[in-house]
Amino acid sequence: MPAFEPGNRCVVHIDADAFFASVEQRDNPELKGKPVIIGHDPQSRGVVSTCSYEARAYGVRSAMPVFQAYRLCPNGIFVKPRMKRYQEVSGAMFDIFEKYSPVIEKLSIDEAFIDSTGENGVAMASSIRRHVKQELGITVSAGVSYCKYLAKLASDSCKPDGLKRIAKGEAQGFLDRLPVSCLPGIGPKTQSRLDSLGISTVGALRQMPENWFARVFGKTARRFQNMCNGIDNDPVIPWREVKSISEETTFDKDIADTDSLRGHLAALAQNVAFRLRKAQLKCRTVGVKIRFSDFSTITREHTMPEPVSSDAEIFSQAKTLLEAAVPEKPVRLLGVIAKGLVPKNTRQASLFEPPDVPWDNISQSMDLLRSKYGRPVVFLGASLGSQAGGKTE
Ligand SMILES: [Mg+2]
Repeated sequence: MPAFEPGNRCVVHIDADAFFASVEQRDNPELKGKPVIIGHDPQSRGVVSTCSYEARAYGVRSAMPVFQAYRLCPNGIFVKPRMKRYQEVSGAMFDIFEKYSPVIEKLSIDEAFIDSTGENGVAMASSIRRHVKQELGITVSAGVSYCKYLAKLASDSCKPDGLKRIAKGEAQGFLDRLPVSCLPGIGPKTQSRLDSLGISTVGALRQMPENWFARVFGKTARRFQNMCNGIDNDPVIPWREVKSISEETTFDKDIADTDSLRGHLAALAQNVAFRLRKAQLKCRTVGVKIRFSDFSTITREHTMPEPVSSDAEIFSQAKTLLEAAVPEKPVRLLGVIAKGLVPKNTRQASLFEPPDVPWDNISQSMDLLRSKYGRPVVFLGASLGSQAGGKTE
């Protein structure tokens, strides 16, 4: 089974497992392994906002009245929600996501779609899972697929602490078995209507003729029919403006050799440029970050009159900055950053419009190849030998 499907959109869905309860268990190890129920005290009329998997074993669920949860699980540890704390952990989690892709759609405090088109979605998802666990001490589940709702269904199906990919060829088999209520947009009302017609699975719903869909779903008929067939072209919509895109590498051994540094710089520039183009952006400012063996760190940047996004242009700016910084000590970490981001079609109005730069066309062909093979195929000569060098943070 190939881990990457050429030419297709790739979406990663990440969802933290029992998020609030996991944060409480992480902050207070005494709660680990115990049925933790986040909600106001059992005497109140509130509802459960989240509960640990240990509490779920008793039948406790989110949105259940707290008194009912208490009845099911009298030994449960009821904890008042600390929203501020959860926001903090959520912020740190989204900071991690942003290291992987500039295109992130926030669905809730602990859930996001991450566009991983052109990359190996499974590798990205497992890396994010590892990263979150190491840094924040909680687990997240991940789904990987060629569209958003399937990525979400995939992660829902492998909770907790799982990773599942649904490839194009597997989508139909996966969907057909699911209850209709799994499709986004099918609420309890529609569900009971479908139930009364004897339609309980997506597979059964899919068999219905087009005019039946039109009658039952009206305007949204096509959308539901498509979803039954594994078709959805909704893009991942970034939830906030991307301010910068950067890549950095910490070397296994400090590097003093300029040629070798230049090689690593080219590989970094190439990744930054690729991510810029994926987000349909260009940058006005290119910067480099250099951390020396003694941990002192410098950054240098340069702003250009015209925004750029090609590998060659970003590398050439970064190279000039690196050379001007004259690294005299061995380098421990090297980074490239693109700032001053603008939509890709922005160009300064000029009386003397320069002839169309061919870089856009070249970049487009390079990106098609990279998306097809999941790694750079055509790359800067200077990056040769450093394609797999160092580890990207
Ligand atoms: Mg969650």
